[in-house]
Amino acid sequence: TQTTRPQRLLAAVQKNATRGDPRSVVKAIDQFCRQKEWAMNVGDEKGCILDSVVTEVNPATVLELGTYCAYSTVRIASLLPPHAKLITLEFNPHNAAIARQVIAWAGLGDKIQLVEGASGDWIPKMKEKFAIETFDLVFLDHWKDRYLPDTKLMEECGLLRKGSILLADNVICPGTPDYLEYIRNSPRYKSQYFRSHLEYTKVEDGLEKSVFLG
Ligand code: SAM
Ligand code: MG
Repeated sequence: TQTTRPQRLLAAVQKNATRGDPRSVVKAIDQFCRQKEWAMNVGDEKGCILDSVVTEVNPATVLELGTYCAYSTVRIASLLPPHAKLITLEFNPHNAAIARQVIAWAGLGDKIQLVEGASGDWIPKMKEKFAIETFDLVFLDHWKDRYLPDTKLMEECGLLRKGSILLADNVICPGTPDYLEYIRNSPRYKSQYFRSHLEYTKVEDGLEKSVFLG
């Protein structure tokens, strides 16, 4: 019978990673993607930049837009201080079901709240439904035409405070031109590009890190 790529990725985790060891989960997924099938995880190369931003910010509240199979979710959650909270949004129920199992295998269920649904619907409900004041860090990695409208929505909903960090993946490939133009020119942000490569390839891509100035 036919299986999906997320199902095959999960099978690789269950075969090759140690239960309760997040780094072994990350490693098993990277190995699967380099040796068997490309998948749209942030990947090992940009993942190191993501790790360093998480470590530097040391956030108590994190929002991730776009979970897919929870590769980046596991990467981020494994670096969070005790009692920190990571909310990750995914609107594809099949991806969400796989992601829950990857998170469980990594033993990170306590730190991560996976929410099923569209970012545009959930962002306005964050404060009320999850008792969030503001996010210290937001990782944007969902569909690329949503980065800009969702950033403006987070501003309107008061989810950003002075010093909140936005970290956006794939700003070059596939690219987010309207988001980059906004974030680099708005006086409300100080923004910086981290050059790297598209996951599991040699094609240029990078992460844009932007500080909200209030
Ligand atoms: N962050 C993941 C990682 O690095 O391992 C990869 C995320 S993948 C590039 C993008 C995911 O975002 C897909 O699973 C897609 O279904 C989901 N998605 C796209 N647009 C969305 C939206 N507006 N709200 C919620 N999920 C969305
Ligand atoms: Mg990405």
